[in-house]
Amino acid sequence: MSNKFEIAVFNGDGIGPEIMEPTVDVLKSLADRSGAYSFGFNYADAGAAHYAETGESLPAESLQIARDADAILLSAMGLPSVRYPDGTEISPQIEIRKELDLFAGVRPVRITPSSRTPLKLDGGQTVDFVLIRESTEGLFHTQGCGEVHDDYAQETLQITRKTSEKLFKFAFNLANQRKNSGQGRGHVTCVDKANVFRSFAFFRSIFDEEAKKHSNLTSDHAYVDATALWMVEKPWSFDVMVTENMFGDILSDLGAGLMGGLGMAPSADIGESNAVFQPCHGTAPDIAGQGVANPFAMILSAAMMLDWLGTNNDIPEMVADGLALRDAVDSVIAAGTHVTRDLGGTLGTEAAAQAVLETMV
Ligand code: NAD
Repeated sequence: MSNKFEIAVFNGDGIGPEIMEPTVDVLKSLADRSGAYSFGFNYADAGAAHYAETGESLPAESLQIARDADAILLSAMGLPSVRYPDGTEISPQIEIRKELDLFAGVRPVRITPSSRTPLKLDGGQTVDFVLIRESTEGLFHTQGCGEVHDDYAQETLQITRKTSEKLFKFAFNLANQRKNSGQGRGHVTCVDKANVFRSFAFFRSIFDEEAKKHSNLTSDHAYVDATALWMVEKPWSFDVMVTENMFGDILSDLGAGLMGGLGMAPSADIGESNAVFQPCHGTAPDIAGQGVANPFAMILSAAMMLDWLGTNNDIPEMVADGLALRDAVDSVIAAGTHVTRDLGGTLGTEAAAQAVLETMV
């Protein structure tokens, strides 16, 4: 088995290229030092600026590069000033999730002693949970083809058995993995609105079917509105939570806020054969081009990629590098001096990324 991995790279819009470049440099440097694995990087065009220039938001060739890759790195796409004629924004990152069937949006929420969390935690309380956002259906089912009439508009929420079964299996497997590694207690919460909507009662019943297969794990259900409250009041009570696409979209920004801002929140969108690793934040047009964007969410997403590739290909050095990269970001934040201005520092994007690399020496 070759340990060379082909990575599709979507530079994206706004701050996208600024955070991607140092992240790719970090990955190259880690691979060079390790010798246990290597990368080829294949750049693919897509996004709002590409649409404005060419009329295409996600060229077929770029989608093919993504499909053929061992993993996909994506910064962020979209610009509020560039829109389709129907008024919606260009968002190829969502199209890629649907095209490659990346049903599991994995959003870790970790609050370490050095996090700039707005929460007041007692010394002993640690927050470490994972939100899994279904990423291909739910309220995004009619994305781009919702009906707009003179006096009303409508979108359709769709929950399918096939995707829900894969999603819940993924959630319980992750809880099991976290339990075995000592990171979690082996508990899965289904977040829904089953008190009001039949589609969510259906979602919940499929969750319960999967839960019965895991006697070593525990599970419960929570309504999404209460979950938003509990994520603020007692976030330490969660281990793995799994939810519908739109609920997950909103709750993941809440999770990012708990960690100290969007610049700290990584994510992975995982399917059966492909995966995209990208920060939770957008293209930040308000600071684009200034070299001040926080690269840590992008770097932490790359750390998730190392973990995913290393685990799936049985390369312990790669898994260890993923963990070391995450720890290095924690250390840099704890030191507090080598961070970007959103974290209270004065460094630019490149220098903050360089500080992470230097911490790993
Ligand atoms: P945003 O995440 O881009 O920005 C929200 C705020 O957070 C801004 O003040 C921004 O400066 C700040 N911010 C975000 N990332 C940062 C970083 N790395 N470092 C420092 N500060 C950071 O959200 P928005 O303003 O709602 O959206 C802007 C554009 O991004 C829109 O076109 C939107 O559609 C797109 N978007 C894309 C994605 C994606 O590609 N996954 C996600 C969300 C939004």
